[in-house]
Amino acid sequence: MKKQPQSITILQLYPRDMNIYGDWGNVLTLKRRLEWRGFATKLIEYNVGDTFPDDVDLIVGGGGQDSGQLRISDDLQKIAPQLKRLADDDLPMLVICGLYQLFGRSFTTKDGDIIPGIGILDLETIGGDERIVGNIIVKSPEFGEIIGYENHSGLTTLGQNTSALGDVIKGVGNNNIDGREGARYRNVIGTYLHGPLLPKNPHIADWMISQAIIRKYGAVVLDPLEDKYTEQARDIAKKRPR
Ligand code: GLN
Repeated sequence: MKKQPQSITILQLYPRDMNIYGDWGNVLTLKRRLEWRGFATKLIEYNVGDTFPDDVDLIVGGGGQDSGQLRISDDLQKIAPQLKRLADDDLPMLVICGLYQLFGRSFTTKDGDIIPGIGILDLETIGGDERIVGNIIVKSPEFGEIIGYENHSGLTTLGQNTSALGDVIKGVGNNNIDGREGARYRNVIGTYLHGPLLPKNPHIADWMISQAIIRKYGAVVLDPLEDKYTEQARDIAKKRPR
């Protein structure tokens, strides 16, 4: 009898409201890189009012405008216990920009609205006067060079219990003071980097995939993939002006 392929379920959080910067590309990268290695994949979307699924292996959430963050805010509080439980259980999650901010403790918008976060990441964000837009390069102790594009006005300050994703080599990152970018908690990555992030940084995609497979099946050996064109794209992206 033919052996069933191992299967990984990817959940995209709030794609209806939090997907304005092409962050869907992150989901697609995870899906393709799993399938190229012979895994079956299932994609699920979670939007405001949906029932949170029981069976999830990877979670990805994107960026959005302040108005989108306000729209999802109440619902996000409702699913916070499930998300916290999964984060504590080492489920790999990637949250970008608007959802990165809301995985923190709170986001105070420029208009003075305080949007409570869910506190998986120990950080706070305050809406700034300027938009921070441009190519960004980050150096991370865990992932090496990370390349992306930032577009935010929120300024994020990390608390004691969260480490940064990395140090900014070019660009701004979390704020214009400490030169750090993003945040980490267990297998959760929060970052301002669009791009989308994972097609430009497949080493992070493979790390997420590995963590998901180890968590579900106990062990993993990922076949290497041909990333020649990605490497070329990364080299070009690095030379672009800010
Ligand atoms: N509204 C937030 C900000 O501008 C988030 C932006 C985003 O998700 N790109 O800081």
